Amino acid sequence: MDRRLKAMLDSWADRFDVPVEVRADDRFLCDHAEFESWAKDRKQLRMEYFYRDMRRKSKLLMDGDAPAGGQWNFDAENRKPAKRDLAMPQPLHFAPDDITQDVIHMVEAKFATNMGQAAKFGFAVTRADALKQQAYFLKHALPSFGDYQDAMLTGEPFLWHSILSPYINTGLLDPLELCRAVEAQYQAGKVPINAAEGFIRQVIGWREYVRGIYWHAGPEYVESNALGAERPLPEFYWTGKTDMHCLSQTVDQTIAYSYAHHIQRLMITGNFALLAGINPVDVHRWYLAVYADAYEWVELPNSLGMSQFADGGMLASKPYAASGAYINRMSDYCSNCRYDVKQKTGPKACPFNALYWEFIARNEDKLRKNPRMAMPYKNWDRMAEADKVALRRQAQQFLETLG
Ligand SMILES: Cc1cc2nc3c(=O)[nH]c(=O)nc-3n(C[C@H](O)[C@H](O)[C@H](O)COP(=O)(O)OP(=O)(O)OC[C@H]3O[C@@H](n4cnc5c(N)ncnc54)[C@H](O)[C@@H]3O)c2cc1C
Ligand code: SF4
Repeated sequence: MDRRLKAMLDSWADRFDVPVEVRADDRFLCDHAEFESWAKDRKQLRMEYFYRDMRRKSKLLMDGDAPAGGQWNFDAENRKPAKRDLAMPQPLHFAPDDITQDVIHMVEAKFATNMGQAAKFGFAVTRADALKQQAYFLKHALPSFGDYQDAMLTGEPFLWHSILSPYINTGLLDPLELCRAVEAQYQAGKVPINAAEGFIRQVIGWREYVRGIYWHAGPEYVESNALGAERPLPEFYWTGKTDMHCLSQTVDQTIAYSYAHHIQRLMITGNFALLAGINPVDVHRWYLAVYADAYEWVELPNSLGMSQFADGGMLASKPYAASGAYINRMSDYCSNCRYDVKQKTGPKACPFNALYWEFIARNEDKLRKNPRMAMPYKNWDRMAEADKVALRRQAQQFLETLG
């Protein structure tokens, strides 16, 4: 439930003159009171410590009081770039039933000019079908989920991701039941610990944590703009029409499937908006509009907090800002792009490179003191003045082309 839905429910007693009781949402492990008591008196609300509490509470992947495998978090093992020759599972496509077809036709008629391709809709709409996708994921994708969690490949929208978020968020799947099924695969020796732990951390860690932050931060959270970003969202976020291959890939699959995986949302569309100084409310509205799993309670902290650093670090300890080198390391996008990821200035230079340094320079007063930003500022300080000027000019010229 998000604020809009809560306001609607709260109005029912008066509007319909009936008693209304709103019960706790049992699709979460941590209720509002528990999150508030965890957050109370903490200087920093870091996901990792919250997650450990959720592991202890749920007893998922625990050997008594200790984490299974000897450590809480195997994230460092979850950053392999994917290779094209690996066999990749494709999520199940569910043929639309009559009701779904009616809705598809209605959407096509009423929203013909909106972003998206309703005719490609292939999500499950029943619990039975959602459970089929869950079983498919456990068998075919989970074993490699950990290794390639951060990878991106041209023409491969899904990789080893679960494509389960719409079902978990609507209540077709139970997150705890799903995590127990993942744990069982690990206990049966069918999947490695970095896959099981990586997946369980997303669900009982990140998902529960961002929901807690959404309610904890209050209604004014949506107005946060710690970096004072004011540029409007570029048109290509709606059309996919851009020469930047990483962005066109991510937006095109969003148009086709209403899906992009986490690293695409964070490090491609999110990273570009952060570097270019796009107004965070525009960014938030875009994410809320375009993904099948989008609900404000989960989308807002992810877009405004995690990806745009607009909350000034309530959620993330540093901005997720990266140059083209990161995208090149984690994907094959750059080898298919008209820009050259190795160049920083000039007509062929990858826009992410100059934009990254422009971001560092532009936000110096807000970010230099952040200990996790020490390295970028050290590198910026080492740079020759002429190079700094050239990079900033390159970035400005590019930004002017965005309109
Ligand atoms: C800018 C931005 C906006 C996002 N908006 C949404 C949104 O509107 N709705 C949404 O459900 N997720 C959102 N996410 C989180 C994440 O990207 C999606 O949950 C994930 O990509 C869904 O695909 P999947 O089911 O294949 O996930 P997998 O990679 O298979 O991950 C497994 C599950 O973990 C959960 N999960 C993973 N990461 C997160 C996270 N950061 N926050 C919450 N849950 C997480 C999801 O339930 C997901 O199904 C957003 C992330 C970013 C960076
Ligand atoms: S070269 Fe730059 S713009 Fe092109 S795909 Fe790589 S990171 Fe994206």
